[in-house]
Amino acid sequence: MPIDATQPYDDQNIFAKILRGEIPSKRVYEDDHALAFHDINPQAPQHILVIPKGSYVSWDDFAAKAPDAEIAGFVRAVGHVAREAGMVEPGYRLLANVGQDGHQEVPHLHVHIFAGRPLGQMLA
Ligand code: 5GP
Repeated sequence: MPIDATQPYDDQNIFAKILRGEIPSKRVYEDDHALAFHDINPQAPQHILVIPKGSYVSWDDFAAKAPDAEIAGFVRAVGHVAREAGMVEPGYRLLANVGQDGHQEVPHLHVHIFAGRPLGQMLA
């Protein structure tokens, strides 16, 4: 079920548990600001999720509240993950779903990275 992106942060969400190591994930990258791991239900040959270590419900929450250093660190981490995975050529797609109409299901900001096949004009 999609979430309300204006809800308070719930530290029992599945990605908070992954961050704390309470449930397993296939991690591909971690630094001070971000954690990246494979999506459990990949929608492309390569499908990685990147999440900030801070507690942000959505892209909107992050953009409104995160300190500049966290935003910069997170954006650089997303770029690093894609580059290190060899995705820059032939290319990849970034996606952040927000709220009900965006069909965001997990209430901790995550950016999807899709790659490994021609992705067409839209994923929706
Ligand atoms: P959303 O619709 O919120 O943008 O995407 C949530 C994503 O999280 C989905 O692509 C879903 O497959 C993925 N996901 C949900 N639960 C888990 C989990 O426990 N582990 C991993 N690795 N991915 C998950």
